[in-house]
Amino acid sequence: MDGVDADFEKLIQLQELDNALRQVAAELSDIPHLIEQVEKKIKADSDLVVRAKDRLTQNQKKRRDLEAEVKDLKAQIAKYKRQLNEVKSNKEYTSLLKEIQETQDRIDRLEEEIIKELLVADEIEEEIRSASLKQKNEAEHLKEEISALNQRKQALEEEKDRLSKKKEELLPSIPKPQLQLYLSISRKRAGIALSKVIEEFCSMCQLRIRPQMLNEIRDRSRIHLCESCGRILYFDYSEESREEAEESSR
Ligand SMILES: [Zn+2]
Repeated sequence: MDGVDADFEKLIQLQELDNALRQVAAELSDIPHLIEQVEKKIKADSDLVVRAKDRLTQNQKKRRDLEAEVKDLKAQIAKYKRQLNEVKSNKEYTSLLKEIQETQDRIDRLEEEIIKELLVADEIEEEIRSASLKQKNEAEHLKEEISALNQRKQALEEEKDRLSKKKEELLPSIPKPQLQLYLSISRKRAGIALSKVIEEFCSMCQLRIRPQMLNEIRDRSRIHLCESCGRILYFDYSEESREEAEESSR
């Protein structure tokens, strides 16, 4: 019976290693995504600055265009004024004055627009300042986040190596038929081949176990599979002895 007991202990150890390995793998597989999210934040901060700078460039171009238009119109007025001295009729004179007035009105409107654009430029410059400040303040913190994630990744990879090595050492000590049974259940049951019996139930699927079977599981005289989920049922003596120790200390 001792030999059988020892096998159960090893299967339990194997299941614990597999559980730990599964957890490590799950956390490891999350890390690239977490790093990507931080990188997106870094990019969003820098995009904010870039977009504000683009808008300032467009604003500057618009102002230059408006100023060029004003300059052309002013030249036009100067030309009309020169023509005033050469006109022969009152009608021509009046019509030129009207042209001058209309051109001046257009200049006034354009200059109002230039002032508006200047105010917008002030706003954009303020946006650039605050976006740059935000970027600067957050960049360091975000880079630290990435480096912490990379450190975590390294620690997990080391843990994975350590657990895999332990598992490799354990495998040859488990009798082949039991190992094969474990592996085939593990593949079918999302990596969980063993189920602890708690009171009289399979802890994985909550099936009530028949009394006769329960006795054989308790004394570990043979391997029993849960009739519902198909996992290897076992009784955890380490837990019972812990509970007994707790009860006797009360
Ligand atoms: Zn079950």
